[in-house]
Amino acid sequence: MTFYSRLGVRQVVNAAGYLTEFGGCVMPFEVIDSMKSAAAAHVDMHELHGAAGARLAAMTKNDAAYVTSGCAAAIVLAVLGAITKGDPRAISRMPEGKDMATGVVMHTAHRIPYDPAVRLAGGHIVQIGNTQQTFDWELDAALREGVAAVLWVAGSHLAQGALDLSTTVRLSHARGIPVIVDAAAQLPPHNNLWHFTRDLGADAAVFSGGKELHGPQASGLMVGTGEFIEAARANGSPHQRLARALKVGKEEVAGLVTAVELFLRRDHDALAAHWEEIVSKWTAELSGVPGLTAERAYPNAAGQPVPRVRVKVDSVLIGVNSDELRARLWEEDPRILVLRGDADSFFITPHTLAESEAASLIDRIAYATRAASGAR
Ligand SMILES: *Cc1c(COP(=O)(O)O)cnc(C)c1O
Repeated sequence: MTFYSRLGVRQVVNAAGYLTEFGGCVMPFEVIDSMKSAAAAHVDMHELHGAAGARLAAMTKNDAAYVTSGCAAAIVLAVLGAITKGDPRAISRMPEGKDMATGVVMHTAHRIPYDPAVRLAGGHIVQIGNTQQTFDWELDAALREGVAAVLWVAGSHLAQGALDLSTTVRLSHARGIPVIVDAAAQLPPHNNLWHFTRDLGADAAVFSGGKELHGPQASGLMVGTGEFIEAARANGSPHQRLARALKVGKEEVAGLVTAVELFLRRDHDALAAHWEEIVSKWTAELSGVPGLTAERAYPNAAGQPVPRVRVKVDSVLIGVNSDELRARLWEEDPRILVLRGDADSFFITPHTLAESEAASLIDRIAYATRAASGAR
């Protein structure tokens, strides 16, 4: 009996993507093992954060690293770090930050549902440009007194109107303002763990532990310069300061370190080829299901270089549209989660599925499709 079945909660076969609402990712047994081991003993959390940070920094070719309780939490801590510079007197004045520089510059093209994290940190967003274009003088004009940082969001799925990161870093650093990169879901490619910071000069980049890293769902990773990470860390748990509310446990620290080790050791090319294989197989199998047509789509909804399949639903032939078919899949046990495209289509992805789930997914979709046409 699983814990979920004990509560009468159905498991989800997740063919949609890494979504917090549906449990983030699942962890390899090595990650679970390291969390179990960490859970069994007391430890000095300052010492653990220091050692884990050093290990993560070495693995990701960065000066420093810090484990947080998620990527949104990492944004809060990074903004707090930029505003307070780690000074305990400044930290004690947050989140009001009266008379302090609390502005965080963001491109309009980079406004995302996660950016309230800036306000949670006592920051206020200074928005520049529009979804289609931003001029360098607009950024330069915004980098004035009262601004603590620039938050730059990475991902090919975003509107294309932002200045590139190199230009953003050059202009910001010329005015002494640090740049934070939200790269929550920008893995693969694995070298993004150092690309934004070491290659392109951002002061910090933040990632979700509960997406492609396959770490604990409530973990995040901040990498960057020693000075920036120190300032962020000074705001967080185990200190009794504002971001104590974003406490990360010893178990998450252990799990994330192990997850990043495994992630960097995995054969990324072989895995990419494996995903392509599943996508071709699915496309071929779906061509045998009356009422459904399928084609490969790329990249995915989070802008990751991961292939997926767009399934088009012929509602005249089947009698239900894509939304109704998705609702039927969701009512199965286990639930089957696919990603909405529009009223006529949905997406399925291989990268969040176990081998056995990927192997039987099309059968389950075919079954639900036949049931829907039969019920007509
Ligand atoms: C998922 C995501 C976040 C939030 O990450 P959590 O680890 O769930 O806190 C922030 N920014 C972007 C762009 C994301 O995709």
